Amino acid sequence: MGLIVQKYGGTSVGTIERIQAVAERIHTTAKAGNSVIVVVSAMGKSTDSLVKLASEISSNPSRREMDMLLSTGEQVTIALLSMALHEHGQAAISLTGAQVGIVTEAEHTRARILEIKTQRLERHLKEGKVIVVAGFQGTSRSDQLLEDPDMLGEITTLGRGGSDTSAVALAAAMQAERCEIYTDVPGILTSDPRLVPDAQLMEEITCDEMLELASLGASVLHPRAVEIARNYGVMLVVRSSWTDQPGTRVTSPAPQPRALAGLELGNPVDAVEFDTNQAKVALLRVPDKPGVAAQLFGALAGQALNIDLIIQSIHEGNSNDIAFTVHSQSLAQAASVAEHIAPTLRSSYGGTISGGGAISGGGAISGSGTISGGGAADEAEVQTADHIAKISIAGAGMIGRPGVAAGMFSALAEAGVNIQMISTSEVKVSCTVAGDDCDRAIATLCKHFDVTNSPARLDQAQLTAANLPSVRGAALDLQQAQLAIRYVPDRPGLAARIFQLLADRSISVDMIIQSQRSRPHQGQMTRDIACTIRQDDAELAKNLLQAAAAELGYGEVWINKDIAKVSVVGIGMAYRPGIAAAMFESLAAADINIHMIGTSEIKISCVVEQAKGVEALRVVHSAFDLAGSETVEVPA
Ligand code: ADP
Ligand code: ASP
Ligand code: MG
Repeated sequence: MGLIVQKYGGTSVGTIERIQAVAERIHTTAKAGNSVIVVVSAMGKSTDSLVKLASEISSNPSRREMDMLLSTGEQVTIALLSMALHEHGQAAISLTGAQVGIVTEAEHTRARILEIKTQRLERHLKEGKVIVVAGFQGTSRSDQLLEDPDMLGEITTLGRGGSDTSAVALAAAMQAERCEIYTDVPGILTSDPRLVPDAQLMEEITCDEMLELASLGASVLHPRAVEIARNYGVMLVVRSSWTDQPGTRVTSPAPQPRALAGLELGNPVDAVEFDTNQAKVALLRVPDKPGVAAQLFGALAGQALNIDLIIQSIHEGNSNDIAFTVHSQSLAQAASVAEHIAPTLRSSYGGTISGGGAISGGGAISGSGTISGGGAADEAEVQTADHIAKISIAGAGMIGRPGVAAGMFSALAEAGVNIQMISTSEVKVSCTVAGDDCDRAIATLCKHFDVTNSPARLDQAQLTAANLPSVRGAALDLQQAQLAIRYVPDRPGLAARIFQLLADRSISVDMIIQSQRSRPHQGQMTRDIACTIRQDDAELAKNLLQAAAAELGYGEVWINKDIAKVSVVGIGMAYRPGIAAAMFESLAAADINIHMIGTSEIKISCVVEQAKGVEALRVVHSAFDLAGSETVEVPA
């Protein structure tokens, strides 16, 4: 019998009765001959109550004191659970993060785990004890001189929801047979059952999909826990603490051997990937109203055209730009579908955008691209570009590390490579560049990110329709804000500067979209750049960017917190046409307008008005037949 790590979340240990029930389950596991390490959260909503107490004293409490405060919640549970185990006659000992030796960075409220000392754990396991560890907390490095001696041995926390990460990290460090996450739902469902009552349980999901879902709002697992499971090949299951049902397995490919030192700080980029057979179609000045994306992508799906990246940028007046990439061989067909639709899309936009600006040389399409299209300023217009390459950096380690994307942009800028489109996900950043720049871009990125394995060619046309689910689940994030920067001079290096500025303050961005149109402003060609960020970071991001506006030469910066991001995730969507169309059609049928679209190979995200968020999630969920016949019970 091996070592099992079990983690129980807040609701699962929310009352004395629940703690007693948990103790019984642990005792049964131990009696069966297993060694058990248990990780627990604070009882019920007690972390929220502590946050509220702090907010009654200060609107901006010190992050160190927040860690001191919030770490107490878990300490209550470990002691009570350990006592409950003793009542069962089960030898047990409770340990705080510091007592175990969960060593983290000295970064309060969002520390990453550097190392877990295993000696004390091994000793207690040998003594036949169940070890009950406080989740979510660690201690800053104490065995090495830091520049600031006051940062030695500080109590740190890993960020809200971080007990999952404590558990998986312990399982990795102790090479446990498996890590079981016990929670208040039967496992991972196709969506949040509190918002979508007919969400259905999944038997399994890949780590890649779960990483996306977790970072797009599915709070059932902390994304960093999934990252560690993937990197170290930890066998991970999510189950109900109420029943004996098997729950959901989170599967990962066999990992590369990896040292345990610097646990959460490994090389953030595992691979550089490229696809040189891409072509781009852009539809400019389409009306900003429900149904437009659905009409375009529905027509493309009708021709069985497989679309790769899709972006829709912020709108100007009441018109939008939509751009997408297809395999080069499909360019003519895709362009003719778009040309066919363009005249039917007439924006009521009066038009301060000059036609010349939109299609001039320095603009949206560089290098060897062919430019077609024309038309009046208030009419949708089609542009195409062939011979473009998609270059991606991939790796679970880039989660929550905003500097990685910024590093990619600056490495490309230094190599003189102009970025055309950007698409981001938690585990991948892709840029399209002129085909002629591809080799240079790859070499630069491999060097910059220290990637030694050869770059992988990813070609849509070579991918076979494997038997993988197109859409595994849907998620909603109501904590996001939209950030837009107007009139960014169109030259290499500016995206890098902007995102580095945010990264330096640990502000993560998602759905970075540069407008397709470039237009003259104060004597130079400019574009707009938009992205989504966490609402809590919005004011800081705006202030930082406004302060740098004069130096970097861009215009107005605005934020909109009144948004929701609805996403679908599935590893098979890259192989099948029509997935984006089905998502957009379901939103159009509910009369929900899409403000932004961003995709990766395995996700499609749409930004919609916040008030429509839950409805958007529900219609999208039912569009992909994810609903089950049984309603999952969720505790209040
Ligand atoms: P714990 O305290 O056990 O860590 P959390 O509240 O952090 O529990 O996570 C469980 C909750 O995650 C569920 O009650 C559910 O509302 C929510 N959730 C969001 N998305 C999903 C999903 N796709 N599958 C299951 N639960 C989800
Ligand atoms: N108690 C912490 C929180 O509520 C950590 C956790 O439960 O995972 O965020
Ligand atoms: Mg949780």
